Amino acid sequence: MSDPFQPLFPSREERIAHNESWSRSLNERRAEWVSERHVMQGFRCECWQDDCAERILLSGEDWRMARAEPNRFAVAPDHVAPDIEVVVMKRSHFWLVEKLGEAGEVAEEHARSD
Ligand SMILES: [Zn+2]
Repeated sequence: MSDPFQPLFPSREERIAHNESWSRSLNERRAEWVSERHVMQGFRCECWQDDCAERILLSGEDWRMARAEPNRFAVAPDHVAPDIEVVVMKRSHFWLVEKLGEAGEVAEEHARSD
């Protein structure tokens, strides 16, 4: 029987950052073929919930904004963990969040190692 007190990753923040980086790598593949087109596409929500299946609509410009900083992520409205991230922009179809503290540092490390 597995020990419930032995999570896969050392901390909740690290687990969340791993999940967001994973969503991001899927979205980056998608962004390769949307890139310069202005149509909105169904991107995977990059929020902290590892079982989130929400799709968000982003234009190429929205996506570039989300990628401008390694610790920023595009999420569905209200998909925010207020203890580890702040909302930096709200649009009707998606919000932009920025990681704080350890979660932000882990996200930046992932962005560098990609
Ligand atoms: Zn979500």
